[in-house]
Amino acid sequence: MMHQAAIGLGVRTRLLAEGPDVSAAQVVADVTVGDYTDPDTVRAFAAGCDVITFDHEHVPTAILQQLEADGVAVRPGPAALVHAQDKAVMRERLTASGAPCPVFEVVPDADALRAFGERTGWPVIAKTSRGGYDGKGVWKLDGPEQAEVPFTGLREGVQVVAEEFVDFARELSALVVRSPSGQAVAYPVSETVQRDGVCVETTTPAPGLSEEQATAAQHLALSLAAELEVVGLLAVELMQRRDGSVVVNELAMRPHNTGHWSIDGAHTSQFENHLRAVLDLPLGDPTARQPWTVMGNVLGGAEEDLPSALLHCFARDRRLRAHLYGKEVKPGRKVGHVTTFGRDLDDVRRRARHAAGYLMGDPDA
Ligand code: ADP
Repeated sequence: MMHQAAIGLGVRTRLLAEGPDVSAAQVVADVTVGDYTDPDTVRAFAAGCDVITFDHEHVPTAILQQLEADGVAVRPGPAALVHAQDKAVMRERLTASGAPCPVFEVVPDADALRAFGERTGWPVIAKTSRGGYDGKGVWKLDGPEQAEVPFTGLREGVQVVAEEFVDFARELSALVVRSPSGQAVAYPVSETVQRDGVCVETTTPAPGLSEEQATAAQHLALSLAAELEVVGLLAVELMQRRDGSVVVNELAMRPHNTGHWSIDGAHTSQFENHLRAVLDLPLGDPTARQPWTVMGNVLGGAEEDLPSALLHCFARDRRLRAHLYGKEVKPGRKVGHVTTFGRDLDDVRRRARHAAGYLMGDPDA
């Protein structure tokens, strides 16, 4: 999807892919297949690139520091990106800068985790500091007898972060984009729904969020982007408590699933604005084209022939937008998304849920 935006900008992309069949390798012409955790591979790949950016956050910080030392433009740079790579670093920095966070502690062992739980009360959320995604590496621990769980099979250099369990009413996402020269734009705040740690749906703007709350969330994201000197997209995932207040869940520094609505729903998509930022071009208008936009993720389900299932979806809804990622359908895997927009939120949601459900093999959705 970033490549799609690059075409319109006249930008040539070169891809470092972990395998020959990954989604991006199916569309980018200049592909190197290699291991992004191997310094020599990444260095050789970067030679000749004007700027390096990412669609995930797992390239080791040390390799990116080395690239920067070699004079390569890495955007976002490792000093910013580490806050999206390492949840312990992120929590410490955000708490120090006064951003609202859950009570947390980096716990060295199960005893320390038990002591944390005794202090804050159970359940406790435990997370690995690095390497997690889509709810992998996040556990809800109901009592002290589960304290060993996050330490089992922990990789070297990875820590366990214990957090107070936030009994949130809903989750929100505030996306902003910042360029090296300091220009920044904020997308409307989205409501996001996660199931088993995986995003299934977003609604933009977040229904029932007052203008004051929305502006505060955008302001928080803009000030974090400035403070951390992020270049490109910053997604601030928020948990909203029942009293309306928010705490930061985590940060992402790349086009984010909660911004996929913007491809069809905003004047400038998150992918295009991310590229414009890393290239230091003027940023585009992030506002929505329609009063409501709903994005439904298509997770691998009973339907394996997605292109055929689209026949039904498109015949039924001429305004439906669909994006399939060219991935093999496996249970629960994100294989595409659909977007609907319009003036009537109930109708927009119903259409998105039907299409996403149908593509997941549920014709009655
Ligand atoms: P990942 O990196 O896998 O996306 P997150 O840190 O975003 O992991 O956590 C995944 C989900 O777990 C969140 O979307 C939220 O629903 C839930 N969660 C995370 N932290 C907390 C917390 N402190 N209290 C309650 N729920 C949480």
